[in-house]
This record gives sequence, structure tokens and C-alpha cells, in this order.
Amino acid sequence: MARENLDTTLLTQDTIIDVPLIELRSVSKKFQLESGSELKVLEGVNLALRDGDVVALLGPSGSGKSTCLRIMSGLIEPTSGEVLSRGKPLRGINENVALVFQSFALFPWETVYENIALALKPVELGPSEVKERVKRAIDLVGLEGFEEAYPRELSGGMKQRVGVARALVMERPVLFLDEPFSALDVLTADTLRTEIIKIFQSGQTPARSLLIVTHNIREAVVMAKRILVMGVNPGHVRDEILNDLSYPRDEDSVPFGRMVSRVHALITETMIPDAPKPETVVRTAVKESALQILPDVQISEVIGLLESIQHEGGMTDIFDLSQAIGKDFGQTLYLVKAAELLNLVDTPKQTVILTEFGKRFVEGDMNTRKGMLHDLFGGLRIVQQVGELLKQSETLRLPVEVIEQKVAEWLPNENPQSVLNVLISWGRFSEVFGYNDDAKELYLDVGQEAL
Ligand code: ADP
Ligand code: MG
Repeated sequence: MARENLDTTLLTQDTIIDVPLIELRSVSKKFQLESGSELKVLEGVNLALRDGDVVALLGPSGSGKSTCLRIMSGLIEPTSGEVLSRGKPLRGINENVALVFQSFALFPWETVYENIALALKPVELGPSEVKERVKRAIDLVGLEGFEEAYPRELSGGMKQRVGVARALVMERPVLFLDEPFSALDVLTADTLRTEIIKIFQSGQTPARSLLIVTHNIREAVVMAKRILVMGVNPGHVRDEILNDLSYPRDEDSVPFGRMVSRVHALITETMIPDAPKPETVVRTAVKESALQILPDVQISEVIGLLESIQHEGGMTDIFDLSQAIGKDFGQTLYLVKAAELLNLVDTPKQTVILTEFGKRFVEGDMNTRKGMLHDLFGGLRIVQQVGELLKQSETLRLPVEVIEQKVAEWLPNENPQSVLNVLISWGRFSEVFGYNDDAKELYLDVGQEAL
């Protein structure tokens, strides 16, 4: 086979010159939204995957992780920047990559064996080669004995093994895993993480590089040798952490805990910067604080968060907080960020403290809370700008598309739909804006809007 020959020659070449298997250089990506506006999802992303690499792309939901992966797979093109596959510009689908997704999109009417073999269909191999490869993949992921089973007979974990086998059977040098375990229960996910690393380490597959996309910090620390932490608005690689703990990694060990704390700290600093540092001045202090909107979170959740902090005596560590409210770390950070933008909490380092406003808010009844939010939320510059816009309209009301357009101009790195969600739900609660769902209009709530 031509491809096999190519691989052998490149194997010798790669040992001489260290050409990354895949590389992104200054990659940016914008999406055209239905409303006509543009959403900038990635900016200036540099990333190289080399032989032996196990890299985790770690970031909150919406930070552009999947988009990065799709660009490297050749499924979509970047708006600017270069994608190199073994040093050459990538054209079309990347033949060096196999993918494992979160959802187990298996054909229900085909057996396990057939579901795996189907992945090889586009490759056009002889029947005996197909048989050998499928058998190898089945052995690797521990599906022996299930060859003739149908998907409905399998547990979630076993289905995902089929998903992994479907990628391994391609026998490609790079394996991408996009949040592969997030739909599984904790124990099953733990087992599969360890097994995938074992398979990779065993050298029994041609996979020479793994890229795992995840928002789960422990998952990144269990699996990866390098952790790339993504920042948002627009998505970028914020920092890299080398993780040289030896495999298999013991999650209860002190060094493991230390590594998790390091990643925690970095993510906290990324999402709720303590004080603007020289290199972050442009990104956070000037550009964003000038015009910021809350993350798209529920008011009830922020209230729950504040009550939880009060319960801890008005001050708590952000990791303990995430445990206390039973949310994952990224989600907790979004809530803290919302509370901080409203001046309800302060976040020196990794501590969250109720401010004077925050204390008064938690102690107040519903009317006090609404009144305070009216001032605090209404005081955000973006909210005031929307208010000005509404005032310019004779009826003090405007269709949401009109506002969405403006928002897209003002906050080009935010998803305008999420911004509108926030404006509507928080605006309604704090009685800054009203919203008519039939007419899809936002209006200025001047306290007599009963028309
Ligand atoms: P992640 O995988 O980190 O959760 P994604 O890469 O899926 O993030 O998405 C990043 C942002 O880009 C999100 O705001 C998402 O809504 C937006 N996005 C992704 N794909 C498209 C698309 N095809 N059109 C418009 N927006 C998109
Ligand atoms: Mg994703």
C-alpha cells in the first residue's frame, strides 16, 4: 500500500529531523453567524504535536477546543494562519489523524465487528487486511467475545470501547480524543483513561501522538504529558504545563495533587485575573473590563454561590467552593466571575470573599436583592449602552436582532446569543429591561410597562 510505504520512509526521516506530526501556526478562526455578524473563536493559536506527545487541550466549554481539533483534522479551514501536516501545508482531510468523539454514534443494526470494520471502508483494503486490523483493534480495547454483539447489548463504557477501536483500526499516527469520556460514569471513565494510555505506551499501535480535548482537570493530569490551558474571548493557548509524573498515575499521591493545584491556579488566573499583569493588560484590563458582560449563568446559581460563601463565613477557597456547590471547576469559575463583575465578591488569588455589597445582598430579602441588582447590573457599561440604544427608540423598545447586531459590534469575541440571554434574564430579574417573547422585543423597564 502506498500509505504504508510513505509511513516507513517518514519514520526514518522523522528520526533525523524533528518535524511535528501536526502544527498550527498563528491560527485564527472566525465564524459567520446567522445574524450576519462574525464571531471570533480562535486567535493566534500555536500548537505542535510531535512523536511521543500526549497533549491535553484544557479549557472551559466554548473556548474553541473542538474548533482547534476540527482545523487540525482538516474538517474546516482556519480564517488565517497555517496548518502543517508533517511540515507540509494541509490540504483537505488530514490522513494522519483518527478521531474519537464523546457520542457513541454506532450503527444499531451492525455488530461490534462490523461497526469497527466500517471505519475502514474508505481506505479500500483487502478483506484479510481488514480482518487482521479489526482483530488487532478488538484485542487492544478488550472487546474479545463481543464481536457479534449489537450496540444495544453494550453498556456505555463498552460502546465507547467500540468508539476507540474504530479510531485505532485506522492505524494512523495521531489520535484525537474530543471529550471522549464525559458521557460515562466516573469509574468507567477512570478505567478507560488508564487503558488508553496503556495502549499508547505499549507501542502496539502506530499511534505516536495523542491529543485529548477536555474540560476536566483531573483527566488532563491523569493522561497528558503536556497540558495546554486555553483562555477565552477569543480562544487562545494561554499557557503550557509540563506534567512528567510517571504512568500509571496515582490520583491519591501528593505529586498528583500538587499538579492538579498548579493547573487549578493557572485556570483561575486565566478566568478571573487577580491583577492585570503586563502581558494580560491588553486582553483583560483594557479591552474587557471596559466593556464586559456576565458569563451566561443563571441568577439562581449565583445566589446559591453567594449563600454558600456566606455559609463558609464569608470567605472560602475556590476549589472548596466548587466541591461545596457540586459543580465542576470551570462552571464554578463562571459563577464567581459573574459575581465578581457585579462587585458581590472579591477574588484575591484563589480565595473568594463576599464584598460589603455581597454581604448585604445575601442577608437581604428578595426585594433588597432585586434592588441591589438593579443598581449593580444596571451599572455595567454594556447594560448602559443597551439602555441608551433603547432610549433612542421612540417606544423605548427594539427587536432583539437589532440589539444582537450592536452587541456583536461591541463585543466581537462574545457569542451574541449568550449576551442576549444574559441581558434578558438578568435584565428582567433586576427590572432593568423587560422582554416580550411574542414580539421578541427588549424594552426599557421604566416601572410602568404594563401596556
Ligand atoms: P469547545 O469545544 O471548547 O467547547 P467549540 O470549539 O465547540 O468550543 O466552540 C467555540 C465557539 O465557537 C462557541 O462559542 C461555539 O458556539 C462557536 N462555534 C463553533 N462552531 C461554530 C459554527 N460552525 N458556527 C458558528 N459558531 C460556532
Ligand atoms: Mg468541544
